[in-house]
Amino acid sequence: MYPRLKIDIPKIKHNAKVLRELCQNNGIEPMVVTKVHCAHPGITKAMVEVGYTMLADSRVENLKVLKSLAPGVKTVLLRLPMVSEINSVIEFADISLNSELKTLRALSSEAVKANKVHEVIIMVDLGDLREGVLPEDLESVVKEVLSMQNLAIAGIGVNLTCYGGVIPDDNNLGRLVELAKLIETKFNISLKYISGGNSSSLYKLIDNTLPKGITNLRLGEAVVLGRETAYGEKIENTYEDAFLLEAQIIELKEKDSVPTGKIGMDAFGNNPSFIDKGKMKRAIVAIGRQDVRVEGLTPVDAGVEIIGASSDHLILDVTGASRALEVGTVIGFRVDYGALLSLMTSKYVEKISE
Ligand SMILES: *Cc1c(COP(=O)(O)O)cnc(C)c1O
Repeated sequence: MYPRLKIDIPKIKHNAKVLRELCQNNGIEPMVVTKVHCAHPGITKAMVEVGYTMLADSRVENLKVLKSLAPGVKTVLLRLPMVSEINSVIEFADISLNSELKTLRALSSEAVKANKVHEVIIMVDLGDLREGVLPEDLESVVKEVLSMQNLAIAGIGVNLTCYGGVIPDDNNLGRLVELAKLIETKFNISLKYISGGNSSSLYKLIDNTLPKGITNLRLGEAVVLGRETAYGEKIENTYEDAFLLEAQIIELKEKDSVPTGKIGMDAFGNNPSFIDKGKMKRAIVAIGRQDVRVEGLTPVDAGVEIIGASSDHLILDVTGASRALEVGTVIGFRVDYGALLSLMTSKYVEKISE
């Protein structure tokens, strides 16, 4: 079946092991994030075998899968809970990330009903402008949460390089550690997790400049694609090629490089423009925007170039292809984070693991 995504689990497992050791050698207990692969069973099991004790995802549906695959492991809800999903959060998440008192109150009362203690990490916004309480509000939020029944404050955390693209540095991560110390002293509590961000914080760990006091990182992309995400650098001794997308040629013809006729909008409402390269050898591959974020694909074959895509068609310039192609030939692509996310979510793409 094509299109299909080949998943090399031993490579991902290797990456996961390297990163866990890097964390542990620096006093950090990492969470491994499963959202980019939708809690794929084979990958998830490999993470547990490597020794990760906390699995994190942004969807409660995926946490439910994680619980069934790995009953002994702690599940972490990364996205702030919706007030409409509080009972399943209490049922399937051991820990959740939070920034709203209204939601925390709802979690508390549901935890009381379920006779469970639910752990929370309070998120602080240190500049990236996605989730988190403002630093000046942290103390009053913590004070209030401490009075809520059946909630335990497991820590505080920050998320960076997601919306605003803010790079983790000594300033923002230093501030997080400072805030944690302040909270611990003020309320005489100890915070288990001082959660210093995602794969974008790894470069600090690699450079040995991560502020002392950070005790947790939440790692997704680095594990599956072998990259830190602050600067997009490859991480030493990890694989970047654990995924291979394969799709099949359904048309192969020599055609013009510029459409004929008056040019209006394309299928997605954009006004396309073209460079006249004369005649070219063009291949249509049976995959499209319905399946994948096309901008995140890189053809494996030298001399093959993506020139466009619609819902179900990907168009390639194969004029310079380094091997003989025909209708039916399978073309391979490497994927970035966005492409991987869409491929794992598409029901039209078969997933095959080795
Ligand atoms: C997605 C997510 C992560 C993991 O991010 P990566 O860049 O894939 O490591 C960590 N924390 C939160 C809150 C997230 O939403």
